[in-house]
Amino acid sequence: MFVDKAKIRVKAGDGGDGAVSFHREKYVAAGGPDGGNGGKGGDVVFVIDDNFSTLIDFKYKKKYIAERGENGGAKHCTGKNGQDLIIKVPRGTLVRDFNTGRIIADLSRKERQVIARGGNGGKGNAVFKSPTRQIPKFAKPGYPGEEFELSLELKLLADVGLVGFPNVGKSTLISVVSQAKPKIANYHFTTLVPVLGVVKVEAEKSFVMADIPGLIEGASDGIGLGHEFLRHVERCRLILHVLDVSGSEGRDPSEDFDIINAELEKFSPDLAKCPQIVAANKSDMATPEQIETLKKYIEDKGYAFFEISAATTQGTSELIKYISGELDKLPPIKEYEPEEIPEEELLQIEDDRKKITVTKEEDIYFVEANWLEPILRTVDLDDYSSLQYLQRVLQTSGVFNKLEEMGIEEGDTVDIFGLEFEYVK
Ligand code: GDP
Ligand code: MG
Repeated sequence: MFVDKAKIRVKAGDGGDGAVSFHREKYVAAGGPDGGNGGKGGDVVFVIDDNFSTLIDFKYKKKYIAERGENGGAKHCTGKNGQDLIIKVPRGTLVRDFNTGRIIADLSRKERQVIARGGNGGKGNAVFKSPTRQIPKFAKPGYPGEEFELSLELKLLADVGLVGFPNVGKSTLISVVSQAKPKIANYHFTTLVPVLGVVKVEAEKSFVMADIPGLIEGASDGIGLGHEFLRHVERCRLILHVLDVSGSEGRDPSEDFDIINAELEKFSPDLAKCPQIVAANKSDMATPEQIETLKKYIEDKGYAFFEISAATTQGTSELIKYISGELDKLPPIKEYEPEEIPEEELLQIEDDRKKITVTKEEDIYFVEANWLEPILRTVDLDDYSSLQYLQRVLQTSGVFNKLEEMGIEEGDTVDIFGLEFEYVK
């Protein structure tokens, strides 16, 4: 079974709790605080594994949880960090946040990417010792690890994507120009899974061609096969449009050409803009008039036209050389960038998630709010405008008000997820 879409849940490890402890030694009365910090929770890390070609494993296992950090101990013992959880995926896997559809990562070239970060360990009481705070009797719990519902989507990495009606000879073509051996038969939809073939041009030069199941009219509306597979040509740098110039199936190849292009446009305007080359296949069965008519039709529309016979391999090497030359002029295979959460959206997060908790331990005000964590991660404390942004967020979201309500005074310490600063009015 070919599976190229999956939904899973990942949770990074929670941080271990900090310890409250005091140094004890025989004959020494009151020792200082020596509670250690909790360990960091393990990350959930995605790693490309070229032995995988589908997402089938994710159909069975749906939940992935990384290890928790150990709690801190006495005698300044820091808890052990939780182990990272490694999830292997096929090359070309696109990771999105399930709820927003936002792209989190593209596992195409970067072999290893952290998808969910483990929570930091809570600080032990030893850390809170200061000249004015000799015996802190509190420690902090660990922070929760990030948790996401993810949608995974495999988008194959190929330079050239074959498109065309079923039975025009796409599988035959890839089988004669590469080592790929897809099923070839004289009935529709023999290709049920995308097939990648490496096409050798010269000793040191090659490109990757993808054969996807044939498109039929209405494919982009989800009727029948095809639509589902179009995403596999979305990264392609060039589309090779295969037509049956002999009309052996009783269809008109120029009509086929327009129908397929309309389908591509409907599926994705970007895909429709991808450079296209036309291969008029089954020329061994066609009359010279048929070939001439189609050639004129295609060239008038501004496309390069190649007359080939995949079955006899006639014309295929010229076609491959031409494709290789065109690829040299095109940008590399498309890689998707992670999408950032816009500032406005962060500030508009629903009220229940916007909850802010402030707890006071001696003279430190601990601010906790889950939604603040991703913001903090992007803040650069050495950058003035970044700090101003943080100020604004804390102001508009009501964090400062809450602190005031709790009676904070100038010079008190504010701790937000381990980031400490002095409160200034
Ligand atoms: P696909 O559905 O586009 O992948 O088409 P296939 O590669 O499976 O081919 C469909 C049928 O057309 C098969 O019976 C092939 O043998 C035949 N065919 C493919 N290329 C040629 C060709 O150049 N000439 C002739 N005469 N038949 C071909
Ligand atoms: Mg096929």
